[in-house]
Amino acid sequence: MPSIGQIFGAIFAVLFVLFAGGIIWLDSLFEESRGQWVRSVAEEVGASSVLAIFAHPDDEQSVAGLLIRARERSGATTRMITATRGEAGSPMPQVSRMEDLAIIRHAEVLKNGYALGISEQLVWEYPDGALAEEDFELYVDRLMQQMIAWQADLIVTFWPDSGYSNHPDHQTAGRAATEAVRRLRETDRENAPSAIAYILAPSRMMSRFGGETGRTVVENQPPPTHQMPGEPRAKIRGWSIHASQSDYLRQTYGIPPAILYRLYDKKHYYLVEFDD
Ligand SMILES: [Zn+2]
Repeated sequence: MPSIGQIFGAIFAVLFVLFAGGIIWLDSLFEESRGQWVRSVAEEVGASSVLAIFAHPDDEQSVAGLLIRARERSGATTRMITATRGEAGSPMPQVSRMEDLAIIRHAEVLKNGYALGISEQLVWEYPDGALAEEDFELYVDRLMQQMIAWQADLIVTFWPDSGYSNHPDHQTAGRAATEAVRRLRETDRENAPSAIAYILAPSRMMSRFGGETGRTVVENQPPPTHQMPGEPRAKIRGWSIHASQSDYLRQTYGIPPAILYRLYDKKHYYLVEFDD
């Protein structure tokens, strides 16, 4: 006859194995089998001026690791253009009057940019949720002017067809950034960026738990060419800086950032390098 202690010991051991197995399985959802492992994408392409082009305050959270490591590992200057002030987002939790949300989120993205070591930031006033309906030519033109002014050599943005979360604003930002680079490569090679790093969504997680949207994202994004550390601590800090969005992950995925980023600790990119 096994003793009570032995029975409890056996139950505990089984639960522990199930728990550990569950963690390993969850962690595997955020891993990709493809993509060369690098310490820094910016270092990989020898970038000294990195420009992130996104749609909303908090989009930069997806590339925190790339921006931090660009500056810390290779002394690159990092800059960012956010197209909208995020006024159409749902505050989670509500931290201001709704009519002040644009001002609040504008301030949040500047604060997080500062925390990430970004040296210059522009936040334009395109309408949140309707970037695709704006004058595309003008948007591309403004991006080209900033690429030249800042001598950007690496652009970081969303993959146009999937937009990380299938958000039309994300797709438009990625498409405009890509088009701006393409035109500069054709007309003003000396001032043109030499690489674009597209941030990709975790495909296993998205296809399993992302519903219809997740499957659409995975179907429309390429496999990663590179993967690198995601700097989870900076991302957790970023969600507290973005106070009006700080419950977003918990409410959307049921997981608080501190736990999610233990699992989602690497970031996957599709890197396009142009040869001169
Ligand atoms: Zn966004």
